[in-house]
Amino acid sequence: MSSTALGLTGNRDNRQPWADAHVFRLPYEGYLDGLDSVAYLEKLLTDNSSGLDVPAAVILETVQGEGGVNVASAGWLQRLRELTRRHNILLIVDDIQAGCGRTGEFFSFEFAGIEPDIVCLSKSLSGYGLPFSLLLYKPELDQWSPGEDNGTFRGNTTAFVTARAALTAFWADDALSQHVFQLESVVKQWLAEIHLRFAPFIKATRGRGLFYGIEFHQPEHARAISRACFEQKMIIERAGDRDQVVKLMPALTISEAQLRDGLDILQRAIEGVLADALLDQPIAV
Ligand SMILES: *Cc1c(COP(=O)(O)O)cnc(C)c1O
Repeated sequence: MSSTALGLTGNRDNRQPWADAHVFRLPYEGYLDGLDSVAYLEKLLTDNSSGLDVPAAVILETVQGEGGVNVASAGWLQRLRELTRRHNILLIVDDIQAGCGRTGEFFSFEFAGIEPDIVCLSKSLSGYGLPFSLLLYKPELDQWSPGEDNGTFRGNTTAFVTARAALTAFWADDALSQHVFQLESVVKQWLAEIHLRFAPFIKATRGRGLFYGIEFHQPEHARAISRACFEQKMIIERAGDRDQVVKLMPALTISEAQLRDGLDILQRAIEGVLADALLDQPIAV
């Protein structure tokens, strides 16, 4: 609830203008072609005239959810971890959307083999849709006195019970991880075919685990597809700076048959919206 936390979002409509005085934004991996943003941060930190003071922390998502399902690579995350460690900067991973198994492993950063200093978890953490969020941090970073971080509704007691049950049921072994990776291959294959068929309209498809996005050149296409899915009783959200990315985020426990049913609905929606547009395309000679 601090002003700095409220100022962290990149979203211009949601950000509190008075709240981000202590926030400095850096380009994510792939934000600009040819820009190595870790090298850029290193330069800012070592250049006395850069205008950037050494920050307390760097915070990021390993897959930007609302930002449009932008995926950071293992190599980029490793270099960022190495740089922040060398400069004594805390690395905070907001794993609220990408964590809890969404990318296959429990934490979204495990594939890169990095260890953040602080991890934010929430959303599906309670396993039951109950309000529950937490911060994991190393004991040596604990600045609170006992009972100091209090509030009326902190720590919903029922959610503690369901979260424990979910963690015990799903994370005692790697069965759910294997399930997610297995279904990821179904999604990837489907996406490759869709991308090929509708290449003129799709800018990119990307993601990890059961967290994928289809980026359309035109936001109106993404909106119409999402609406057509809703008419078939399937909710599919959009993300990205212009809401141009259709977001595939099925329940992790979904069966393969149900996933394929969902992909069929989405496919029909895409065909319905883009079929006419495809006819209007100039034919290459
Ligand atoms: C939803 C979301 C939040 C906010 O989570 P709360 O539990 O409502 O505080 C923060 N970060 C990301 C990436 C999210 O998706």
